[in-house]
Amino acid sequence: MRKKIIAGNWKMNADKDEALALVNGILAQYDDYNLSDTKIVVVASPFPYIHYCSSMFAKYPNMFAAAQNCSEHEQGAYTGEVSAKIIASLEVKYVIIGHSERRQYFHETNEVLLQKIHQAQKKDLIPVFCCGEPLEIREQNEHFNFIKAQLEECIFQLSENELKNTVIAYEPIWAIGTGKTASPEQAQEVHAFIRNEIAEKYDKEIAEQISILYGGSVNAKNAEELFACKDIDGGLVGGASLKADEFAAIIKSMK
Ligand code: PEP
Repeated sequence: MRKKIIAGNWKMNADKDEALALVNGILAQYDDYNLSDTKIVVVASPFPYIHYCSSMFAKYPNMFAAAQNCSEHEQGAYTGEVSAKIIASLEVKYVIIGHSERRQYFHETNEVLLQKIHQAQKKDLIPVFCCGEPLEIREQNEHFNFIKAQLEECIFQLSENELKNTVIAYEPIWAIGTGKTASPEQAQEVHAFIRNEIAEKYDKEIAEQISILYGGSVNAKNAEELFACKDIDGGLVGGASLKADEFAAIIKSMK
């Protein structure tokens, strides 16, 4: 059975006191989340708090710390970069790869993202691979081709086993941080498309095992309806993951 995952992405937000308060606020409602091996929570904090998160979450089953990025290089003279090896040594289990902000501001290509995924998986980190189209592509009705190319140039280069250890997040760029959510029908349509592409490239059984998360202005009000869709296995949550009560409500809306 594929995992249901609620992942928070704090991006470059929260100072130390705010970060600690946020972790404690999320954990305060842990007993209401009903987590299990197949329903988990992942929190991607900025790097400086990552070990605090992983240490705190170690006491709470099925809560995991994540990184927001990792280097495509294994180690060495890359000032300012953080390797998969460093991240894994801090008991972190997940890493977001290819968020649209990394693609846009740091010019990360599908080729580089594939290298990052390989580095992550070498250290047993599970990549959360982000894909999704900008507004102009959606308006031209070219989003399926756009997403297909992202998949083909990156995660469809993985072996079956590597793909099985990958989570996909569909994040339409026009919905990220804009307050404009894809409708459940729009999101479900793309999720079903991605699952079908996996079935065609690999096989149906593998496609059924891969968690595909929706990201783009998920909040406590729209989460339940989105998560009820057949091919939506949870959410990658930006802004709303910075408010403990709202993030807790989103976790609770995952049935
Ligand atoms: C994100 O950063 O991945 C995201 C989906 O942000 P938001 O929820 O704020 O749209």
